[in-house]
Amino acid sequence: MSLLNNAVDSIKVGVEDFEEGSRERLTSSVRNIHAGILLLYKEALKRLSPDDSNDVLIKRKIVPTRNKDDIVKFIGQGKTTVNVYQIRNRFDKLDIETNWEQFESISKIRNDIEHYYTEDDHSRIQHLIAKSFTIISSFIENELKENPVDLLGHITWSAMLEVAELYQNEREKCLNKINKISWGSDVLTEGVQDITCVFCDSDLLFPNSSDIQDLIFECKSCGAKEEAQGIIPRAVQTALGFEHYKSYVDGLEYPYGSCPECGLESYVIKEERCAFCGYEAEHFCDNCGNKIPPSEMMLSPLCAYCNNKLK
Ligand SMILES: [Zn+2]
Ligand SMILES: [Zn+2]
Ligand SMILES: [Zn+2]
Repeated sequence: MSLLNNAVDSIKVGVEDFEEGSRERLTSSVRNIHAGILLLYKEALKRLSPDDSNDVLIKRKIVPTRNKDDIVKFIGQGKTTVNVYQIRNRFDKLDIETNWEQFESISKIRNDIEHYYTEDDHSRIQHLIAKSFTIISSFIENELKENPVDLLGHITWSAMLEVAELYQNEREKCLNKINKISWGSDVLTEGVQDITCVFCDSDLLFPNSSDIQDLIFECKSCGAKEEAQGIIPRAVQTALGFEHYKSYVDGLEYPYGSCPECGLESYVIKEERCAFCGYEAEHFCDNCGNKIPPSEMMLSPLCAYCNNKLK
């Protein structure tokens, strides 16, 4: 049987497992779907392997050969196929795209599933499956240039759509509630939409209050709750993560720092205010008049130098 047929079979069985829904079958569903995605990845590499190369791109071991005309080429050796690390590496070089972050989160659950599966995890697995469906459908369409309905069949495909739709509905409910809150900061408004649960990585975080300092985000996937003191700095860091990284690399000033009022790392420099408590700090030193750098914002209204001197 071909790789592609195996991939389709794994995904079909995984979807059936999922629909049956018992503990054993859900575990099996995660395994089958994970395996199915890997097989789709390998199919893409196989298709790009040159003729007479023994499917070089899907082989873990690649060796050079020389024929009687002195032409050297690389061929695949043995039966062992590429591991995930190699797939990722080859995709990179060959411009094959997939959502690796989502794939990693599926792998993580697949590896741990025996250890932490409880009754409560049903919805968590459901969301995971929903995520994996978006990987499957976009990979089939964009990289394998096939039609998912034709490839997977109507029954499997519509079951997948239904799960994805449920997930999408939940996500919309969360976003609607998030967007109704006045966050008082553009950076925060952006960041809260992108943070995910610290425990299960789901983006189904539902805010239970409109008051920022009393805010609690409840994860609709694993049930974990997180308070504002955790959410707000994480959201600021998420929104400004790239800027922060760039300023680190270029040796420039950081885009956020610790708030002198509440102590959280949520003081947004360009907004001149703390995203958590709203405090607007003095940005110039009371003593020497110099600009206080973000890393010393905690000491405002003094700069670190004056703070030390006046102690
Ligand atoms: Zn969670
Ligand atoms: Zn503050
Ligand atoms: Zn000073």
